[in-house]
Order: sequence, then structure tokens, then C-alpha cells
Amino acid sequence: MDIIPIHQWGLSIEGKWPLVISGPCSAETEEQVMASCEGVANQGAHILRAGIWKPRTRPNSFEGVGKPALPWIVEAGRRTGLPVMVEVANASHVEAALKYDIDIFWIGARTTVNPFAVQEVADALWGTDKPLFIKNPINPDLELWIGAIERFYNAGLKKLAGIHRGFSLSNSAPYRNRPKWEIPIELKRRLPGFQVICDPSHICGKRELLAEVAQQALDLDFEGLMLEAHIDPLNAWSDAAQQVTPDGLGKILKNLIKRDHTISDPEVVASLENLREKIDEADAQIMKALALRMQIARKIGYYKKENNIGILQMKRWMEIFSTRKAMAKKGQLSDTFAETFLQAVHKESIKQQTEVMNEENASLKEKE
Ligand code: PEP
Ligand code: MN
Repeated sequence: MDIIPIHQWGLSIEGKWPLVISGPCSAETEEQVMASCEGVANQGAHILRAGIWKPRTRPNSFEGVGKPALPWIVEAGRRTGLPVMVEVANASHVEAALKYDIDIFWIGARTTVNPFAVQEVADALWGTDKPLFIKNPINPDLELWIGAIERFYNAGLKKLAGIHRGFSLSNSAPYRNRPKWEIPIELKRRLPGFQVICDPSHICGKRELLAEVAQQALDLDFEGLMLEAHIDPLNAWSDAAQQVTPDGLGKILKNLIKRDHTISDPEVVASLENLREKIDEADAQIMKALALRMQIARKIGYYKKENNIGILQMKRWMEIFSTRKAMAKKGQLSDTFAETFLQAVHKESIKQQTEVMNEENASLKEKE
């Protein structure tokens, strides 16, 4: 994929890190849009956002002002000199937003999950060259996220970037949408050069948590932040608990620590290299130990097959799970990591033993 990085979108946002997108969750009134946008512009935002059409969980809640709000955000952009950005979820949104020459579009999490909707928006944007941010889908499905990116790319859009806004999971607490950093990281590995920003507002759901998540995003080398800000957050018509005032935004931005992601000091490079060699050795040992473990698992598979014993012995698995977790704890490994790791190892052992069971002629060499 030949994706154009954010800083080459031609919107005078070159060299800004982190890129800051801010503005209200929803455009409510002309005054509220103007005051919120001028406020965040004064606090250092680089791009203005406002929701014109709001995807809400239940009907009869505020679903956005719609088209009449478009000139408000355009005017806010004119007054502040900043590019403006709105969410589009269907072809008629795109058509209306194009009429007002909105600078940037974003695709919401509830749209990314739906390939029909994504294709409709992609077709409507065909031939426009508009920059577009694509939020992760509400569920942690990387293929769905990549699929949406591909649909826009195939529609000729090259100015594309992602937004990590967390995932709707039953155990999201204390967040509204739990961040799963490994998913955008894997996305960047799969699509080299594709940039992702973070939306702490929809991850957190409450303003008290924003600063910490914004910092974590910077530490994980996200390209920028989308933070909702409202001139009067307590009385916001949507997402009141997670919006900050423009001053609140300024405070969060001021306190961010910008750590380097490229290392130039030769002394630091040398000591890091030294430690990284040790990591390489440790990883090699882990892989060797895992290979040995699987070899033994296959051997056990042959015995089970010969003696007509089923693959899963629940009692044994429970014993492995608890004893290994205790070992992990001693080594300062978290419970969640130990559990995920052990489950992955067990899954692979079962897979290997299943292969052995299904083999027509068990290889004698391996049996020995
Ligand atoms: C938003 O950014 O206003 C929004 C609706 O976000 P999400 O799609 O992440 O829920
Ligand atoms: Mn919102």
C-alpha cells in the first residue's frame, strides 16, 4: 500500500507531534461550536472536530444537528485558520460534507464494523482525494479494521490513517472502551507506514482518566491524539462525562512528556544494544524451550493414541495452569499475561497432539 502520511496531507500540520485534534463531541449550537473551537485552537489544537451526525445507542437521544451544523464548523475553521473534520457514516453525509468542502473526514467505530456502510462511504468519496481517519471497529477484530482501510484505499483514497478508540468489551472497567494497544501495534506491523492516532476520550469515558491514556499513547509512539473538548462539558448534549474544557485540554497537553522514539545518543545506543542482545538470547532460549515442550507433547500424543486415551485431561491442565501461574508470579509476571501465555501454549500442545492423533502412520522416528 502506498499510503500518504498525515504530515504530507498539505494541511499545514507538518512536524506536529503529537498531532492534536480537538473540538466538541457534537455540534450543538453555533455559539457552542465557535466557543469550543476557538478555545481549543488557543490551547494548541491543530485540527478541529465536531460530530454533525451522531451514532447513538438508543433512539430519541440527541442524534446531532445534521446539515445545518456544517457551516458552523466551516466558520470555526475560517476563524482559527485550522482544518476541520467531521464524521461521515453514509453517502448522504459525504455528499453534504463535500458541498461545504470539509477538510478531513473520519469513520466512526460503528461504521467500521459494517462493510456495507464502509463500501457506501468509500464509493461516495471516490475520486475526491480527501484525507480520512478510520476508527477501529467496536469489537477487537483487526481484519475488519484492515478490511475497511482496504476498501477506502481501493476507492483511490491514499491519505489514510487510523484511530484507536478502544473496544466495547464486557470487562472494560475502568474504561468505557478498553484499549487493546497490541491491536493498533499489529496493524502498524501489517501495514508498514500506516499511522495511527489515539482517541483517549472514547477509550476513557470520563475526563479523569484522559491524561494517563494520552501519555500512554505517546509512549507507544502514536502519531497524535483526538480529545473531545466543550466550552461547557457538564451541560454537553452528548458524552458529557468525558469532555474537558479548552483549559482542561491545555492542561493535559502541557503535562504530556514527549519521550524520544528514535535514539541518537551513541552512549544510549550502545547500552541499549547491549541489553537488546540479552533480550535476543532470552528469546532464543524461550523458543528452544517451547520447541522442546511441543516435541514432548507430540510424544505424549503417540502414547495417548496407542493407549486410546483422549487428548484433554482436565485435571492435569488445571494443575499445570495453577502451578505455572504461581511460578510466573514469583518472576513478577502479571496474572493476565501468565494466563494468556499458558492458554496459548496449551492450545498449541492440543493442536500438535491432534495432528498426531489424526496421522495415518505415526512417524516412528518422532515416536522414539
Ligand atoms: C466520536 O468521535 O464522536 C464518536 C462517535 O466516536 P466512536 O465512533 O469512537 O464511538
Ligand atoms: Mn463523543
